[in-house]
Amino acid sequence: MANNEESRGLKSLFDWFANRRKSGSTSLERQEREIADGLWHKCSKCGVLAYTKDLKANQMVCVECGHHNRVDSDERIRQLIDHNTWKPMDEHLRPTDPLEFRDRKLYSDRLRETQDKIGLIDAVRTGLGQINGLPIALGVMDFRFMGGSMGSVVGERLTRMIEQATQRRYPVVIVCTSGGARMQEGMLSLMQMAKISAALQRHKDARLLYIPVLTNPTTGGVTASFAMLGDLILAEPKATIGFAGRRVIEQTLREKLPENFQTAEDLLQHGFVDDIVSRTQLKNTLAQLIALHQPVLTTPHMVLWETMSLTSTAAE
Ligand SMILES: [Zn+2]
Repeated sequence: MANNEESRGLKSLFDWFANRRKSGSTSLERQEREIADGLWHKCSKCGVLAYTKDLKANQMVCVECGHHNRVDSDERIRQLIDHNTWKPMDEHLRPTDPLEFRDRKLYSDRLRETQDKIGLIDAVRTGLGQINGLPIALGVMDFRFMGGSMGSVVGERLTRMIEQATQRRYPVVIVCTSGGARMQEGMLSLMQMAKISAALQRHKDARLLYIPVLTNPTTGGVTASFAMLGDLILAEPKATIGFAGRRVIEQTLREKLPENFQTAEDLLQHGFVDDIVSRTQLKNTLAQLIALHQPVLTTPHMVLWETMSLTSTAAE
C-alpha cells in the first residue's frame, strides 16, 4: 500500500515535471507566436523583449539600450505631424518601367509585388502638415519599398513638394533612408538628384529653411544630393550615413576602415552633420528650429493655417 502511494507520488512528480516542461515550451511557443503576431518586439541590438505598444509609445526606441528600431513612413508621420493635420500630396504618381528592366525578375513584377505587400505606391510619401502648430512640408522615405531606392516617383514627389513649400513659404523636412538610386530606372533615376537639388536651390533662394533628417541607413545617391543640402542636417543616433558601402571602399583603398566609419557620430565629429537627435526629441527639436527661423510665423500661424485652407488637390 505504502509502495503504491509512493509510486503514485513519484508518478505525480513526474507528471508535474512533464507538465511544467510542456507548459514551459508552450509559453515559449506562445512568445514566439506573439512576436510573429507583432504583440512583442525583440530589440535587434540588445535582444530585450518589449511590448510593441510600449515600444511604439517610446517611438520605437529601445528603453533598455536606446537602439533606434526602424520605423515605416506611417509611424514616422504619426510621430512628427500633429494629429489630423496631415494632407498627403501626389499619391496618384505611380512608377513605370520605361527600360523594361529585368534582373532576377522583371522590374514591373517587383514593383507590383512590393506595392501589394506593403500597401505603398513608391518609396517616399510627401505632404503638408503641422508640427507643434507650425506648418511644414514633409517627405518621408520608406525603406520597406525596395530599400528606399530613389526612382522617378521619389524624385518627382519630392520636387513637387519642395516647389509647393517654396510657393507657400513653408520649411521643408525630409526624413531620409535609402540604399541609393534605383538601378532599375537607370539614368532616369540618377537625374532625380539634380532635379531635387534644383528645387531645393529655389527654396533656398526664397530664404526658406530645409532640414534633412538622416536615419539608418542613408546612402548612395540620396547622400550625394538632397540629404547633404540642408541648412541644418540632423541625424538619428548610430545611423549609417555614407555614399559607397564600407566593403567597396576597403577593397579600393586596400585598408581596414575604423569601426565608427560612416556613423552619424563620426560624421558629426567631421562636420558633415550638425546634430544628432534622439527620435524621442525629434519633433520638439524640429519645431523649435522652425520657430527660431520663422519668428513671424510663431504667433499668427494658426490664423495663417486656417486661411490657407489646404487640400490635397491644391498640391497638384
Ligand atoms: Zn535594445
